[in-house]
Amino acid sequence: MSNRRLVLASKNPGKLRELQALLAGSGIEVVGLDPAARDVDETGTTFEENALIKARAACAATGLPALGEDSGIAVDALGGAPGVHSARWVPGSDLDRLNALLKRMEAIPDGQRTGRYVSTIAIVTPDGRERVVRGELEGAIGREPHGTGGFGYDPIFVLESGKTTAEITMEEKNAISHRSRALAKVMKLLPELLGS
Ligand code: IMP
Repeated sequence: MSNRRLVLASKNPGKLRELQALLAGSGIEVVGLDPAARDVDETGTTFEENALIKARAACAATGLPALGEDSGIAVDALGGAPGVHSARWVPGSDLDRLNALLKRMEAIPDGQRTGRYVSTIAIVTPDGRERVVRGELEGAIGREPHGTGGFGYDPIFVLESGKTTAEITMEEKNAISHRSRALAKVMKLLPELLGS
């Protein structure tokens, strides 16, 4: 098995474990960013730009091929907001942002509450190659929170089944999620980008 390394442009140990598990046995070793590394400013106006900003910075800092992810929720009735600002558009906690979204959507009738989770993943190699992929999960914004699983907007993100992404197991969510769909595309690109 070859010894190929990839740095994940994130200090989130959960994201690192998820990627390490996916690549277990592939011959690709995934390392995390140094917790002391400077945070990059996510100044992009699209998920793709922000994923690239993170991956380019991690590649430059480590000299390794790097993977950067950017995700969020895009609501049709709000013109795609909160979009790239999903993690920060209201100060406070995830719960504060969930409640702010519910409030913003109060007057929006059922049937016009559609939206999607988006995950983009960029891979940047030291020799300058760049690829970006996107995964999406369609849903609708509920009127009140249901369920205790997941994180972020999951208690108000209603799937076609009528359940929220906080009411399904992690395995069920991983089978359909925006992130796993984007990662599946990445897995197909890695052999070509990292060499076999
Ligand atoms: P990022 O870490 O800058 O990519 O921010 C992503 C933000 O989008 C998170 O803080 C959540 O608010 C939201 N988000 C992304 N994926 C999910 C998900 O699977 N469930 C719930 N919220 C999500």
